[in-house]
Formats: sequence, structure tokens, C-alpha cells
Amino acid sequence: LALYCDVSLPVPLDRTFTYALMTSLEHRVAAGCRVIVPFSGRKLTGVVLAVHDRPPSQTARYVEKLLDERPVIDEGLIRLARWIAEYYCAPLGEVLRGMAPLTGEVRRQKTYSLTSAGVDASRQMSLVTDADDPVTSILRLLEQKPRGADALSAKIPNARRHLDLLIKRGWVEAEETAADRDPLRSPADRLEVEFVSRTDAKLTKRERELLAYLELHPGQHRLSELETVVNGAGFAGRALGRRGLARLSLIVPGGSGMSFTSGPITLNPAQHAALSSLSGALAAQRFEAFLLHGVTGSGKTEVYLRAIEASLAAGRAALMLVPEIALTPAVAAQFGSRFGSRIAILHSAFNDTERAAQWRRIHAGEIQVAIGTRSAVFAPLKNLGLIIVDEEHDGSYKQEETPRYHGRDVAVVRARDLEAVIVLGSATPSLETRFNAEQGKYRLLDMPERIEHRPMPAVELVDMRMEFLETRSNQIFSRRLLTAIQEKIAAREQCMLLMNRRGFSSFAVCRACGERSMCVNCSVALTFHRRDRRMLCHLCGYAEKVPAECAHCGSEHIQFAGAGSERVEDELHRLIPEARIARMDRDTVSGKQAHERILGSFRAGEYDILVGTQMIAKGHDIPNVTLVGIINADIGLGMPDFRAAERTFQLLTQAAGRAGRGQMPGLVLLQTINPDHYAVRFAALQDYSKFYEKEVEYRRAMRYPPFAALANVVVRAPEKEVALRRSGELAALLTPPPDRTRILGPSQAAVEKVKGEFRYQMIVKSASRQVLAKALNRLRHYAQQAEWPATSLIIDVDPMTLL
Ligand code: ADP
Ligand code: ZN
Ligand code: ZN
Repeated sequence: LALYCDVSLPVPLDRTFTYALMTSLEHRVAAGCRVIVPFSGRKLTGVVLAVHDRPPSQTARYVEKLLDERPVIDEGLIRLARWIAEYYCAPLGEVLRGMAPLTGEVRRQKTYSLTSAGVDASRQMSLVTDADDPVTSILRLLEQKPRGADALSAKIPNARRHLDLLIKRGWVEAEETAADRDPLRSPADRLEVEFVSRTDAKLTKRERELLAYLELHPGQHRLSELETVVNGAGFAGRALGRRGLARLSLIVPGGSGMSFTSGPITLNPAQHAALSSLSGALAAQRFEAFLLHGVTGSGKTEVYLRAIEASLAAGRAALMLVPEIALTPAVAAQFGSRFGSRIAILHSAFNDTERAAQWRRIHAGEIQVAIGTRSAVFAPLKNLGLIIVDEEHDGSYKQEETPRYHGRDVAVVRARDLEAVIVLGSATPSLETRFNAEQGKYRLLDMPERIEHRPMPAVELVDMRMEFLETRSNQIFSRRLLTAIQEKIAAREQCMLLMNRRGFSSFAVCRACGERSMCVNCSVALTFHRRDRRMLCHLCGYAEKVPAECAHCGSEHIQFAGAGSERVEDELHRLIPEARIARMDRDTVSGKQAHERILGSFRAGEYDILVGTQMIAKGHDIPNVTLVGIINADIGLGMPDFRAAERTFQLLTQAAGRAGRGQMPGLVLLQTINPDHYAVRFAALQDYSKFYEKEVEYRRAMRYPPFAALANVVVRAPEKEVALRRSGELAALLTPPPDRTRILGPSQAAVEKVKGEFRYQMIVKSASRQVLAKALNRLRHYAQQAEWPATSLIIDVDPMTLL
């Protein structure tokens, strides 16, 4: 009797595929295991959902390889994946692929070879083009033998781009190959080595020396440090490892080795009340959701730490999610020192191999506490009893690619499924979450005061319209802000200045004809970056030289208008030459390390002023900061997006909350030309309730979330007509609109063209989740039947932005 398995594959199709099992695999494959299978000329990794003996109608191909002897995705996570696929209208296979970050264990690469048309083209082109034309060179190299992308990139600049083009032309084809990767192919400073046994076999001199040293010094040694003992230890150590004479193991960063010291903390009454509610729920071991609404500096972290301790004491594991940017070494160290080797920090700075190693330890039950960003919501903790989502309002919890899930909402669903306790914490809860608390779906835990009765910072609005009238000049800094900065520096205190836009100036405009320098791929203006001497597109990364004359009329009068964070820094250097200034935005922060280095040295007092984009507003606790200046509170308010006011209120309140967290009181200066806008006004008053009341009325009147279920349906295509026609076809499917549902559009998206593709959008609002889901599924099936390219239709359920 033959056995088959149904496999979910990471392809944009709503179905599983049935494969046959070789006898050798029959008893080893189970639901939740990964397998490698052939799929239309490629080899794909998929997840087995069922094993059975019903032959499919067509002859089934065989599973090529079983990757896991035991399931890596347990039943609970498979249920969660099914929920995500349905709720967010995403293919199940793509959801499952994101759940187990084990790609680091499998080496995957594409091998390129010439088609017969490619061979002809290669011969012809080598006659007519010169030898170092990149396309000709690629074709010639591939004529010799098939090659991988890495090999080609090493020889030819931009090889990948040319390859994509050549594939489109039908001259080159790509085959995906998968091979096991040795998990120990990590750099020497990430490996530890330990003696196993001696040997009579022949060794090189270095191998012999290293083995002798290891035998004399039992225990684990960091391979990179052995270089001082034996020259070439890295190489020799790996050779010994391969022959089984030494054991190599991967050092997993995070967890141990961090130090963090703080005195014992006595909870204040509000913290105490919050914790005892949580402890009660944890003891009951039933699902319950909490909103921990605590102002900035109210000591939420300490409540999280104690709740985790309570969960562990009850024998259940805990998971904590934090926003992308908030997982700093300071935070990691605090958790590391509390939970030692029981914690895994799922940091995006880890490479694939390390991530896989961490995941394995959690999966094996060696770890009871995991802390990480969005995708950590899938951490395979055993017996999970507590989930915490810190800064639950943060936009980075929403994944902006398929599957477009919201980490916070998935966390709530997972907690409910596992009968676990969930805590959503924030000083500025999202409207949806606060609304759920008002409705009694979540229990509200209030912490309305800062610890030790420290005052909230004083906030002053600076009306930049008045400033202009009085000074007759358009300055970045008001006189009030400049004086305040100077005073703080004189007092050896620190300042943070928020400018939520990067670059030097936001656009270049011709004074003669009024045209702006635009991106060639997107319908947005290019931003001037002075340090790089380039005009840069913030959507697609396109860059060009700074124009000396207007591309339209030839005039030399180009004006650079609108300030960005680079300009703020520059201006400060000019105005206060003695100030030590650091800047933190996407341009100065490449990779996690830089971000941590800047914050670390600012915390250590090496700088007086930290200038930055919203990155500086998030969660940081730096006691010596007594002044926060918000250069332009209005950026973002004008966005055609129903969340614009909410996002502005959150950003301003969070930024203000960085001031006066230590012993000295804080001051916040908020520069604006909209001092009467409710988002600005209530942020200045730091009055969340007033803001909530006003905003919730607006949402109710306009039927926006939380009063309706919302989806953003975007159709994109390289040709405008195609995008327009396809969005029309979708609109026709929803005419007349389903029951209690409204359709806005289709219309041009706010940014019409992005990365060379035109975008049309349709907003679907429904009073019923079910009706919405059904409507969206109709759209998706239509696109599949019509064989639109997979990237052509984007369905974003509960969108965070409508742009
Ligand atoms: P939040 O996240 O609510 O903005 P934090 O958790 O960062 O605030 O706490 C702010 C500071 O207060 C931290 O340095 C923390 O160590 C300290 N802290 C927390 N609880 C107490 C307490 N009960 N007594 C004294 N200090 C505390
Ligand atoms: Zn011009
Ligand atoms: Zn662009």
C-alpha cells in the first residue's frame, strides 16, 4: 500500500499538493515536518500537513528529501497558520514558510544556464559587441558551463540585474538547487571547540598542536581566541571537527554573558496592582487579555519582568514581543540578567545559521523565555502561558509583505488558542486596543503616573507662524528652542531633537519653471542627501547626481527646499559649534550595531545632542535627557490616511516621553504650524483620553476601524492601462457591493507609481468580518483564474497605511 502526503508549498496558490513517499520515508514523515519536493522545474521546501493512503487522480511525484525527523511546526502553530492564511487572505504555504526560520540550515542557490536561444544570442553578440559588455560576458561565461549567481557576481558588476533581464528575454534559465549546509560554517569567533579524542592517524603540525592544547585544557574554547595559541587555529579546528577529533559548537549570542546591575526594585502601588491582576490570571491558566496602559516612565518593564517570573514559577513559558528598533543591548541585558540561560533573544542582527540555532533550542524546550520582534510571535515555546506585546501601537508589528499579518493581533489569537495570558502594553495604545478595553474585551490596567512621582515633562507649543512673523525669516530652530538647547548644554544635560524625515532637504525645485527632480521609477520627488552628494528616492533607492541645472528648462536656479535630519544636524553645528552632536536615522544606521553604538555613546554622555528620525522616539530610557525638541510636529499630519492623526499623536507623545525620566524634570518644545490641530494639542497636554474621545468619534462617523473591518486592495502593473483595467475588473466583481459593505475607488493610489509600477487602489469597508473575507477571497480567486502575476494584486487586511 503506497503512502502519500499533502504538502503546503510557498507558492501563491490556495491548495496543497500530494506527493508519494518512498518506502524509506513512509514511517518517518509526519504532519509538521518539512520536505523537499519537485515543483514545476524547481525544488521547493514545503510543510507536510497530512499523511494518508488515498492516491491522487494524477500520478504523484516522490518526496525527494525529508528535512526533519520530528515535526518542526506543532499542531498549535499549524492552527495559527491556518487562521492567518484565512484572516489575512494569504496562501497557507507562504505563512508556514515564515514560521520556522531554518533556512540557515539549507543552502539554496539558483544555477543559471543558457537556453538554446541564449546560445545563439551569445554567438551573435560576441561578434558585434565589445568584450567587456556585461551581458555578452555573462552569456559567454554561461556558455562554458552553468553557474551560480555568486560566481557571476564576483566577475561582473550588477550580474543579478542582468540575469533577471536575460531570463525575461528567454536566453537564460534558472534552476533552484538545495543542499544541506554544515551548521558549523560560521565565522571562527562564533564557534567553540572542545577536545574529543586523540588519534594515531596522521595530522598536520597545526592540527597536532591544537589537539594537544585542547587535550591539556579541557572545556570549550572560542576558536578565534586559539589563534594566539596555534597559528591557523581556525582552519585546523574545523579539520579536527570534521574528523570527529574535536567537537565544534555554535555560540549563540544573547542570553548569557551580559551584565546588568540594578538595585532591588520595590514596586509602587500601581505596578503592584497591575502585577497582582496578572498573577491572578496566570494562576487560573486561562485565556485573558490585558491592556497595560502606563504613561511614559511609569515602569512597565518591571511589571513585564515580574509577570514572566510568575509564569515561569507556574511552569509555563513566556514570550515577549518588542518593536524592531527597541531591542537594544540595554533591554537584552536587563532580561538576560534576570533569566540567564533560560532566555533566547531573537535579534535581527543574527545571521540565518544563528537564528536557526536559537530556534532549535527553543523547539527542544531548553528555553522558557523568548524575546524578539514581530516574527518571534511564532517562537515554538513549549507550554506557553504568557505573551507580552510591548509598545503594542507600534507600526513595525505589521508585516508589509505577504503574509501581511499584524504581530500583535496574531499574538492575541495564539494566546486564546493556548489558554494563555496576553498583555498589550503602551503609553499610547492604538485606537483599536483601547476600544477593545472599553468594550470589556481586554482588562484595563492603568499606570497613570511616572515612578517615584516624577513629573511628566512640561510641554510648550512653539507657533512657527508667529516665529516667522516676528523674525521675518524661515528658520529651522525657533529662538525659544535654540536658547533652551544652549542652556541645557551649559548645564551638562542632554537633548534629543526629533526631525522625522531623513536627508538634507526634501526636494530640489527649479525657480524658473517650478519643476521638481522626480524619481524615474516612482511618482515622488528625490531627496537631497548632502553627505553622499546624491539625490535619492526614499521608496526605491534610486539615486542620481545633484542637478546643476533644471532637466526641463535648463535654468541654473535650483532651490533645495524642505529640511531633513541631515540639515538639522548641519545647522546645529553652525549655530552651536561647541556642541557634540550625533545623528540617528536610516542613513547613519546601517545594521543593528550602528544603532546600538550611537545610542550607547549618547547614553554614556559622549554627545550633548542626539538628532534623529522616529527611531529616537521609541522606548529609550536615558536619564540625563532633559530637553526634547520636536522640529516639525506637522510632518505626517497632511497624509491622506485615516491614521495620520493617531500616528502623529503617538509619535509626539512618545518623543515627549523621552524627557525628564531621571531625577531632573524634563522640558519638551514642540514646533508646529498647526497648534490647533487636536493631535498636536492633546499630545502637548499629554492627554490620551481626550485624544481618544475625539478620534473615536471621527472613526465612528467615518466608519473606519474599529467600527468597520477594512482592507486595502492594490492592483499594480508596469503599464498604467493594465493596472487601471485590472482594478476595474475587480471593482465590477464587487458591484453592487455586498451587504453592509462600502467600496471606495478604484482610484489612483496616493503615490501612483512605485518602483516602476502603477498602482490603483480600492478600499473595502465592511460592518462584517465574514462579508469582507468572502469579498476579498472572490477577488483573489479571480486574479488566480485570470493568471495575473502573483505580485499584481495586494490585499492588505487591517492596513496600517493606505499609501
Ligand atoms: P516605561 O517603559 O513605562 O516608559 P520603564 O519600564 O523604562 O518605563 O521604567 C523607567 C525607569 O524606572 C527604569 O529605569 C526602571 O528601572 C525604573 N523603575 C521601574 N520601576 C521602579 C520602581 N518601582 N522604583 C524605582 N524605579 C523603578
Ligand atoms: Zn526649470
Ligand atoms: Zn523611486
